[in-house]
Amino acid sequence: MHRVEPVVFCVGETRTNDDQMRAYLAHIGAPDWQTDAPSDVEEIIEVMARACYKSFGPGLNPNVTRVRPDNKSHLGNIVKVGHGSTLEHSFINFMFCDVSRVFTHELVRHRAGSAFSQESLRFVRLEDMGVWVPPAFEGNKRAEELFEETWRLLEEKYGELIEVAAEMEGRPFDELPFHLKKKYTSAARRLAPIGLATNIGWSCNIRTLRHVIEMRTDPGSEEEIRFVFAKVAEIAIAKFGNILGDYEVDMVEGLPHYRTEHPKV
Ligand SMILES: Cc1cc2nc3c(=O)[nH]c(=O)nc-3n(C[C@H](O)[C@H](O)[C@H](O)COP(=O)(O)OP(=O)(O)OC[C@H]3O[C@@H](n4cnc5c(N)ncnc54)[C@H](O)[C@@H]3O)c2cc1C
Repeated sequence: MHRVEPVVFCVGETRTNDDQMRAYLAHIGAPDWQTDAPSDVEEIIEVMARACYKSFGPGLNPNVTRVRPDNKSHLGNIVKVGHGSTLEHSFINFMFCDVSRVFTHELVRHRAGSAFSQESLRFVRLEDMGVWVPPAFEGNKRAEELFEETWRLLEEKYGELIEVAAEMEGRPFDELPFHLKKKYTSAARRLAPIGLATNIGWSCNIRTLRHVIEMRTDPGSEEEIRFVFAKVAEIAIAKFGNILGDYEVDMVEGLPHYRTEHPKV
């Protein structure tokens, strides 16, 4: 048993292919167009949105006499008018570590625009179970003891169950073929607590990112997902200020609540 705290790693994001971008712009008659986008994520959204009206400059589309001059105003307008499908072109990738299965079960409900890869308790044998004591109980000695005692007990019983499997097979567990290890590891995971610390990868497009930040930093959400999405929002807003710059933040019960006039674009 060991104590943990959820950690967020932003491990990837959309990149532009500069040669092909220049070739595309030349192909549509806008070879000199440049962006001041601070990130490739925001450049791709801008390019995809400008492509809709050929709004890379006045006159390129004879119906267009004025275009927004920069990435920030262009993306700001997309958010304002709710042209959210253009945000689906850019992706960001996170690894969430030492989160509970409470958290992962809530996260995977966000289906639209998301991809998940979760540590498998079917394959990964548990030895040293991690526990996060949520702020609701943090600092209360008896509550912390209850978490720790329960984790120790379940860890011990899980280990005993693995030993039972070894006895049933007549060999030390580590000497079993992989398919048998998998069979018993998979069955034994039912003794693990729902608060078990685990890892999950989440990739999402920027439209989804906005929606999930709004839903999961809301004070009505559970404290662990609020805790994690406070970190997600902080990282994402620092990286992509032009597409996430409309958020205002209030502190509610020690955690930030991100609000916007333009929810669910
Ligand atoms: C505070 C809180 C409490 C909750 N309590 C519960 C609970 O008690 N029990 C429970 O089961 N769940 C609960 N949930 C989960 C909630 O019901 C949603 O399943 C979850 O938040 C995913 O959000 P979403 O529906 O917006 O889906 P996402 O997958 O994030 O989809 C984003 C948006 O895309 C659209 N969309 C997605 N899929 C479809 C579709 N198939 N058809 C049409 N439009 C679609 C919708 O507009 C949707 O809002 C809770 C969530 C929160 C934030």
